[in-house]
Amino acid sequence: MIKKWVFAFNEGDGKDKKLLGGKGANLCEMTRIGLKVPPGFVITTEACLAVVADPEKKFPPGMMDQVHAGLADVEQKSGRVFGGRTNPLLVSVRSGSAMSMPGMMDTILNLGLNAGTLQGLIAQTGNERFCYDAYRRFIQLFGKVALGIPEAEFDTEFAAVKSKAGAKHDVDLSARDLAAISERFLNVVRRSTGKPFPDKPLEQLEIAIRAVFDSWGGKRAVDYRREFRITPDMANGTAVNVQQMVFGNMGNDSATGVGFTRDPGTGENVMFGEYLVNAQGEDVVAGIRTPKPVAAMADEMPVLYNELLNLRSQLESHYREVQDFEFTIEKGTLYCLQTRNGKMNAHALVRTSVEMANNGLIDKRQALLRIQPEILDQMLFPRLDPKVTKKPIAKGLPASPGVAVGVAVFDADRAEKLGRTGERVILVREETKPEDIHGFFASQGILTSRGGKTSHAAVVARGMGKPCVSGADGIHVDVSMRHARAGDQEFGEGALITIDGTTGAVYLGEVPMIEAEFSPELGTLLSMADEMAKLRVMANADTPDDAQRALKYGAMGIGLCRTERMFNGTERLPIMVEIIIAENQEERQVALDRLLPIQREDFRQIFRIMSPRPVTIRLLDPPIHEFLPSEHLLVEDLDHLHHLREILQGMQVLSDAVTFMNQTRDIHPQVQKFTDPVLVDEAIVKKEAILKKVRALHEVNPMLGHRGVRLGLTFPEIYTMQIRAILEATAECQKAGIEVHPEIMVPQVCTAQELKRVKVWVDSIRTSVEKTYEVKLDFRFGSMLEVVRACMRANHLAEEAEFFSFGTNDLTQAVFSFSREDAENKFLPMYNQSGILQDNPFEVLDVKGVGRLMEEAVKWGRHTRPDMKVGICGEHGGHPASIHFCHRIGLTYVSCSGPRIPIARLAAAQAALLEGEKMADKAV
Ligand code: PEP
Ligand code: MG
Repeated sequence: MIKKWVFAFNEGDGKDKKLLGGKGANLCEMTRIGLKVPPGFVITTEACLAVVADPEKKFPPGMMDQVHAGLADVEQKSGRVFGGRTNPLLVSVRSGSAMSMPGMMDTILNLGLNAGTLQGLIAQTGNERFCYDAYRRFIQLFGKVALGIPEAEFDTEFAAVKSKAGAKHDVDLSARDLAAISERFLNVVRRSTGKPFPDKPLEQLEIAIRAVFDSWGGKRAVDYRREFRITPDMANGTAVNVQQMVFGNMGNDSATGVGFTRDPGTGENVMFGEYLVNAQGEDVVAGIRTPKPVAAMADEMPVLYNELLNLRSQLESHYREVQDFEFTIEKGTLYCLQTRNGKMNAHALVRTSVEMANNGLIDKRQALLRIQPEILDQMLFPRLDPKVTKKPIAKGLPASPGVAVGVAVFDADRAEKLGRTGERVILVREETKPEDIHGFFASQGILTSRGGKTSHAAVVARGMGKPCVSGADGIHVDVSMRHARAGDQEFGEGALITIDGTTGAVYLGEVPMIEAEFSPELGTLLSMADEMAKLRVMANADTPDDAQRALKYGAMGIGLCRTERMFNGTERLPIMVEIIIAENQEERQVALDRLLPIQREDFRQIFRIMSPRPVTIRLLDPPIHEFLPSEHLLVEDLDHLHHLREILQGMQVLSDAVTFMNQTRDIHPQVQKFTDPVLVDEAIVKKEAILKKVRALHEVNPMLGHRGVRLGLTFPEIYTMQIRAILEATAECQKAGIEVHPEIMVPQVCTAQELKRVKVWVDSIRTSVEKTYEVKLDFRFGSMLEVVRACMRANHLAEEAEFFSFGTNDLTQAVFSFSREDAENKFLPMYNQSGILQDNPFEVLDVKGVGRLMEEAVKWGRHTRPDMKVGICGEHGGHPASIHFCHRIGLTYVSCSGPRIPIARLAAAQAALLEGEKMADKAV
């Protein structure tokens, strides 16, 4: 039996894209559901493969007979005749493989035109100019695409006629000019191919079909498949779609237009689109006529408008997705030419999801799965107005999302001062340090020329939800001159700049932005997500302000409160410095006693805000030298102070001399005070003490050195103060009837012995607090897993720890033995470009290495403690594909910065919905 190579649109299986190509399958699908689609047929991809495999490139047996039968069917359905002089059938010929491939053949329109059928078309349309234009376009396109004639040959002839006619634009050409052009084009074909233009429609069709098949092996298509890694498994061969042409320019009962089933800008449930009466699509493209909004059709063509509304609901109820469709009305008959899923912004996507789910058009699963979590970023941060095109002066790392505009200020003190006056400020530094923190509070955003995505600037800005561009090394920042330069552009203090922390771009001047839109629909969508998700979504939040913000984003608790951030406040840092430079334990205790009530109050507030949700508090983690200024800065300060000391001695001499010279002259008391060297001496003593400590604390590799629990165990009074503050705040809340669930978390643990020792302190402080406050405390004790050994010993750690939280920032560094800052600034981009590593493992969880270790650690931990709560609080906790992995290995929660929470909530729901499906793995 002869194989079936050709399928009429009403025969083909609309799902079989491999056989019919994407376009062909869709045309079959539209026909099958009863849409009025101009009739046509698809020649299968198998036919293409047969031709490619044949040494003589012959069409497979029976194929052309089936094409002829297909044509006869189209003639019958359209009531027209292919090659007919009075009522000619013209067709389009398109390629189309299983995957959309712009690398393949251009569409040939109006195939079937020749001198005879052209007259028929003129009679039908009454529009001679249009018909000659269509004719010359057909010869040109057919010549180029099917006969391989260089386009320039046609362009020369076209230009000659245009110039002879004195026409400025193509639209100024008359029917006669276009007829002349057609003649010249026919000559081009004769000249180039040595043969006349094939004017038999069937011959045209055969040549066109062969050209489509050939295009599959053409350079453009092959390059495209290589570039986008399209394997034969995904798309093999191209189909050919042959379809009746319909015309929207056959009089006032004809029209052409495009529509969306809903407004793609707002998501509103109204038909959206544009149309033109008695016109063809070309008129819109050429700008000859301005289309009208589709609503105007209600008056102009009321019957057809109703049909269009019907088409709209048919499309939506079948595809269950907002459709972007093309239509043509030919002599009162409405045809749907194409439909595809509409592209929408985040706002419209969210609104349509919620409304379509409410109307029962889709279920909650579909409503949640049709939105890419990352796109929600658009709704959470102000962003640059996409209409504005301005070139950035430099690009850094997108360290904390959102756009900020303000005047450049080069130090934190000035930023604070200016910020207080209400000025919008961008803090510009080479890099930031903890002592710059007050500048962060006062600024709209932070720009640094050095440092990666975990630099101080990046981490603190993210925590505060402020935009930050870090490591913009194209900008040379000269803090002392209060000046910055990027190539030949420069700006000084006070210059207005815009930074985009979502893309890393830096602009001179103010770039207009559009506000974030956390709409009620987003709230509804995320509630649906929470119902589906198994993972809970917590926030990384360090202060009561952060906690408040995290709640707004829907945090189900705090998964990581980095207590060191609490020491950065302007009134707290000096106490912290006292603690560090203390000569002995007594001195240290005095300072700690001052810090205790401050910490307790912070915790009390955070507990109250988050009640009844859990709050995980991590004991002090970073090496303490981070709270001190750098050695280099201190040496510089001391130089200045010694210098000043000498000047003051001179001033003292002057003051004495003045007194001696003129007893009556009054020395201003301010001058006296200012010249008092005691103040300077005190400053020198203090700075020297700090410098001594900085030198004593110096470590070769501080990130692997004296930090985390190691620091806690060497200075027990720091951890015990923190534990006391947490438990006293808990007791106060419990007594006030506030439900709290605190969790004490120990960082950098590598052995169960470390945990055991901290636990002893916890138990003893618990006893004391319970006695003092007369309450039974309710809290958990647990450990970070951010050291490889801790993962390997998870079963032992679980004997002490009631919960684990993977610190994948450190764990990734440890597993790869990469320092993040160095890796991102030096070799990671090259590794990613050359494919040594697929992704940046600090952004996308490295499932094969870090993930593998996590998976085992979860099993081992739960072997000891089956109900073990396990989460992740590294940055990966806000990354959708990584969240899928966390779901798969059975984590209890993910924790991420506030603005990532909505994204994580949606990703967690999708992970649950796709459970067991391959997609989850693919996403990872
Ligand atoms: C981590 O290491 O993943 C973590 C959360 O801790 P930090 O980023 O504070 O080192
Ligand atoms: Mg860490």
